Amino acid sequence: MKRDHYFGGIEAGGTKFNCLVASSPDDVLDQTRVPTTSPTETLQRVIDFFAPYVKAGRIGILGVGSFGPCDLTPGSSTFGFITSTPKPGWQNTDVVGPLRAALGVEVLFDTDVNAAALGEFTWGATAGLDTSLYLTVGTGIGGGLIVGGKPLHGLHHPEMGHIRIPHDLIRDPFPGACPFHADCFEGLASGPAIQQRFGRKGEALADDDPFWQLESEYIAAAVSNYILVTSPSRIVLGGGIMQRGFLLAMVRQAVVRLLAGYVDHPVIALRIDQYIVSPGLHDRSGMLGAIALASAGSREQRKSP
Ligand code: ZN
Repeated sequence: MKRDHYFGGIEAGGTKFNCLVASSPDDVLDQTRVPTTSPTETLQRVIDFFAPYVKAGRIGILGVGSFGPCDLTPGSSTFGFITSTPKPGWQNTDVVGPLRAALGVEVLFDTDVNAAALGEFTWGATAGLDTSLYLTVGTGIGGGLIVGGKPLHGLHHPEMGHIRIPHDLIRDPFPGACPFHADCFEGLASGPAIQQRFGRKGEALADDDPFWQLESEYIAAAVSNYILVTSPSRIVLGGGIMQRGFLLAMVRQAVVRLLAGYVDHPVIALRIDQYIVSPGLHDRSGMLGAIALASAGSREQRKSP
């Protein structure tokens, strides 16, 4: 269905900014991809893409799902900033300020994974399922949790990629790749961790490489912990590494094994393939999540007097 009022969505990633003008997955008016170079150049190209739509009155609100860490605290002097990222040139970068100033629209800001979780909750594999979890396993590892229809924030925002998981140094002597924690989940199981461990990318490892068993067990250890702590109704596993299709089944099996029958629910005992699933929006969870963020913001605006 065509609508007069679209939303702007930005999936702000470390290598590219996906920009979208849309109202839903089936109604995308325009989209572009801006390479992530310097903040000034990247944000200017993003502004140039959206400006005609703002000027024509087709967009009044933008959603941004950003790589992080991010400051999401309303009222903070660095709200809307990417903060302590290891990405060169992007530490303490104001993302929301320049977009608001140049476009004169409301900007809703959240982490990339929170936006993806909201996208899946709005139109994808977890549609209407509260509580639900989206986890990406790729260049980075991170998760977003939807509680009460909204991404969970709290003190800062969840950093699910940086939890501690068991690391058997005899089986896997790799010390870990996280610059903050060495062998946290991301430090052991992300794309860069695989590359540092083997001197080549995960894509270069064969499907039958024994490492995938270890990788699936790392992911399953983290997922089991999320299940025990947050009790999600369904879990979506996305990201580049999960595109190795055989991994999903291995993760499911390992989760069932690790939970050891303790979480006594038929969905885990009998229907694990419906419980831990691939993204319903495929590789568009993040960018459509940014649209969902803008759409939710617009509903909030209409509610307030
Ligand atoms: Zn870490």
